[in-house]
Order: sequence, then C-alpha cells, then structure tokens
Amino acid sequence: MDAELTPLPWQAPLWQHWRARISAGRLPHALLIAGPAGIGKHRLVRALVAALLCRQTRADGSGCGRCPGCRQLLAGVHPSLQWLRRDPERRDIGIDAVRDLCQALTMTSHDNGVKVAVIDPVDALNINGFNALLKNLEEPPTASHLLLLSRRPMVLPATVRSRCQLLRCTPPTPEQARDWLAEQLPQAGLGELEAILAGSLGAPLAALQHWQPQLRERHARWHRVLERVMAGELPPLQAAGQIEVLREGRDIMLEFFTWCYQHALAGAREALADAASARLRRWLQMGEAAVAAMRGVEANASPQLLLEAAFERMRQTPRTAVD
Ligand SMILES: [Zn+2]
Repeated sequence: MDAELTPLPWQAPLWQHWRARISAGRLPHALLIAGPAGIGKHRLVRALVAALLCRQTRADGSGCGRCPGCRQLLAGVHPSLQWLRRDPERRDIGIDAVRDLCQALTMTSHDNGVKVAVIDPVDALNINGFNALLKNLEEPPTASHLLLLSRRPMVLPATVRSRCQLLRCTPPTPEQARDWLAEQLPQAGLGELEAILAGSLGAPLAALQHWQPQLRERHARWHRVLERVMAGELPPLQAAGQIEVLREGRDIMLEFFTWCYQHALAGAREALADAASARLRRWLQMGEAAVAAMRGVEANASPQLLLEAAFERMRQTPRTAVD
C-alpha cells in the first residue's frame, strides 16, 4: 500500500529536486503541477504530500507508509490535508469551495506541522474561484502549501500562474512506459501493451485505465457508431443520440474526442503503410473533426451540436475500405 506514496520510476529526477527542497524546508507556498493526463501527476502529488506529512520519511525522502501521518493520508482522513475536487454534478469549482479551502490553510494545524491543500484540477476554477485563490497566493498563510494540478497551465490567469512555481511533469520514454505497464499487466502480451499505449498517446496510467473491461467495451461501442456514421448508415442526429457522452458531461466528451483523434491517427499511420490515399484522407478527416470538437468542448459548446458537427465532417469522406 505504501507504494502509492512513492513517485513513479520516470519521476525520479523531479522527485530528487523537490524532495530535497522539502527536506530543506524550502518548498514554495504554491506549486503548479502541470502535465498531460495519464502520466502520473496525481501520484507525484501524493508522494509530495506524504513527504510533507510523514513523521519518519525514508532515506529517499518518501513517506514511510506506517506512521500516523501516512496512515491518515492513506485512509484519506489527514486533518492537515484538504483535497478539493470538482463536484461531478457541477461544471466548475466556485468561490465557496476555494474560500473554505484557503480558510483551512490559515488554521493552526493539529500537531503544529504544515497544512497542505490540493486543488484538483485548478483548471476547473471559475472566475470567482480564481479571485479567491489569488487572495491566498498574495498573502500566503505561514507553514502552508498549495498544490495545484493542471492539464492546461497556459489557460490559467497570468496573475495566478505568476505566483506559483511551475513543476512540469514529464512523460516517460516509450521504454519506461512499456516496462511500467508490463509490470502492472503481467497477463498482457507485448503487442497488446503497445497497442493500448499507442491508443493513450504513450501515457501509461491512461493506458492502464483503458485496459479495464468496461472501458474496452465502451470504446468498442464508440467504434461501431463511428464506423456506421462514416459508412453513411447512421444519420448524425441519430448517432449523436447513441453516444453516452451527452449524458455524462465534459470529461467524457473530451475522452471521446481524444479517443477519436488517437484512433484516427493510428488508422492514418496504418493506411500510410499500404499507401491507400483515400483511406488516409478518411482517417485524417476523422482526426480533424475530433480536434475541432475538442476545441468546442473547451469552449463549452453544446455537446449535441458538437457531436452532430463532428459526425457531419466525418461522413464527408467516402469510405473505401474496411479497417
Ligand atoms: Zn510516514
């Protein structure tokens, strides 16, 4: 269980740097932990939090997993840690949640140690949420740390960004990703590992999730709908009704279009190999439709309209081969 409190293998250089700063008591008040999905940002944040809250860290600076602090952290009940997540029912994180979090950082901690708050993800704050956060960043309470997770740091307000120190999570090399995934999925063959990694843009934690039967089943369902759209068998309006992202919101919408995009690229690469240009055009068109739709999701456009528009674009290229 204590493995959860250690960084992932490819995070070793980052870990060396930041654990040394923690040991020296020189961790900045606010850290912006940035990087794409599925490469281990959460795992690194947990390791950092453990290093801050553990009472007897190991030689490498990581949490021991056994002391009262680590046990409370593992059980999700550490009184000096606040972890703010987006309410799945809501589109964003508002002012009240951020105020409560910042207020908790100003209280004396139960054992006179540090207080830690995580915002996961900070990208989800609305404008009032950012203003409340900014107050905390301008006047940081003593002995407190804010860890802000972000997939898209460049879209955060410059006033917030400039008051945080950036910790950019780097993705693993393809070999590191494959070796780690092979350890997690000993039952999978090399070909399967490489296929799910390619389908996750090399992000190993995302690949691990994609291995789950429910996800594999969902992707197969998406695939069937798209195949029928592109074959002209299913009108866009009807197809959009069959994609469950309409009910499940923004995150799954992004997952769907990312999946489309990755699938399109994989198809394009395959088509390049047999130099069938019509097939290539078709897959690239699918990729472009997915990118356009992802931008629409970012801009909070209507899911129904985005799906219809994407399917309309995907349908325009004639289908020439069965993949
Ligand atoms: Zn400990």
